[in-house]
Amino acid sequence: MYSTVKTAVLSGIEAIPVCVEVDISTGMPVFDMVGNITSEVREAKERVKTALHNYNVILPAKRVTINLSPADVRKNGTGFDIPIAVAILKALGIINCDIDEYMFVGELNLSGDVLPVKGILPIVFDETQSGRSKKFVVPWKNYNEAKLVPDAQIIGIKTLGDLIAILNGDKLPDIVEPACESKKDHLHYPDFKDVNGQQLLKRACETAASGMHNILLVGPPGAGKTMIAERMPSILPPLTEDEKLEVSKVYSVCGLLDNENVLLDNRPFRSPHYSVTQTALIGGGLKIMPGEISLAHKGVLFLDELVEFKGGIIDLLRAPMEDGHIRLSRGNRSIIYPADFLLFAAMNPCNCGYYPDMQRCRCTEPTLRRYFERISQPMLDRIDICVEAAAVKFDQIIDNSKNETSEQIRCRVMTCHEIQKERYKNENFSYNSGITNDKLKYYCFLGKNELSYMENMYDRLGLTARTYHKILRVARTIADMENEDNIHVRHLNEAICYRSINEKFWGSCNK
Ligand SMILES: [Zn+2]
Repeated sequence: MYSTVKTAVLSGIEAIPVCVEVDISTGMPVFDMVGNITSEVREAKERVKTALHNYNVILPAKRVTINLSPADVRKNGTGFDIPIAVAILKALGIINCDIDEYMFVGELNLSGDVLPVKGILPIVFDETQSGRSKKFVVPWKNYNEAKLVPDAQIIGIKTLGDLIAILNGDKLPDIVEPACESKKDHLHYPDFKDVNGQQLLKRACETAASGMHNILLVGPPGAGKTMIAERMPSILPPLTEDEKLEVSKVYSVCGLLDNENVLLDNRPFRSPHYSVTQTALIGGGLKIMPGEISLAHKGVLFLDELVEFKGGIIDLLRAPMEDGHIRLSRGNRSIIYPADFLLFAAMNPCNCGYYPDMQRCRCTEPTLRRYFERISQPMLDRIDICVEAAAVKFDQIIDNSKNETSEQIRCRVMTCHEIQKERYKNENFSYNSGITNDKLKYYCFLGKNELSYMENMYDRLGLTARTYHKILRVARTIADMENEDNIHVRHLNEAICYRSINEKFWGSCNK
């Protein structure tokens, strides 16, 4: 007696098809599982046997062999319980219907309840896209998540008994709708209208959002750095449908989606504490799970008190900031997770918080130096916009008459994104921050006046090629904010201001 059932396993946010084969033959009564499986998958044996027993399915005293193929793919996770149970039921002739079109995923507990699994969305998405399967049997609690994939037919099951009943019907119903409606995830981010004063910071945030530039705020405690960072997602355009799916896949792999919260409408905002471990920040661990940088995909990663992060951990962000993804390895396995985030960093200007106010700052020259050296130059090079957050003056605290709402700012940001989308439609980058060095000459063309202005600044400020390129990218964004085709001196001038602070604080370290 032999049968096969289709299922899949995840590698990162991609699904790899797996076939469960069951052979029941005469011989020593043993229950064997083979096929490059982790100990977690091996435990399926006991769960499936007991769950079947609880539905009065007793395995015959025969040799039962289960093979998960292909053998070169490592099988992990708990989603194999259901496909194994189905394959056994089929081999025993307890179910007779044609299940070849279906793909099965789900975990069982000992009493036969079907438990949700991580990563249903990417599995259903990939298998549907590739045309390998269009019909899926998934745990009830993963139903709404699976339904996000257009064209996929989903059956949500609660118990092994449900499954046997459904499979023993004359034919499988195409779709079994669950009674519960999915609520969309409507997060409301705080609004910029609550931020009084700080016009310079607001302008810097709008510029960062407009060109998707990474940003660093340096300022004393109480300058409102966190308050402003938390409002950053509220001025970014809403996610497109494709982006929503992409972000949701990461959350699915982490098991953060359920029937109530399925599709992330808003851009993610993640703010890990500086005590975060490397694994929690960039991902990894035994099962190679995504970290905060992947949960911030297409959104904002806020790192407050940047210098307090443990040595070296910040520099691990450099590769994903360049590539938009992270490659994680363990043993001979290597997995890629998306990690295309906008970095919003904040820090105090020194240990005591008052530099460069020498009346109040008690730090010595060497401690100041050590403080700034904790942020490496290659890391700073990846942050296009650096601004100083000054303490708010009293008259600004009480004056909220000039405050714009996030919606007003967001409208302008969206116009700016449209300009870039059109301009870069044939490029492999989408925003000004991503213009590659070889394309800078073309997209950030400078006229005669502008060139001589920059030549002058290059010598006067002692710019490097890298900082010069950063200034060009930011100037491109500032020009786009005015819907101006050409970059003018005023745009360059403002862009230079966004790095002068860099010079002020790090100048002494890097010379
Ligand atoms: Zn100080």
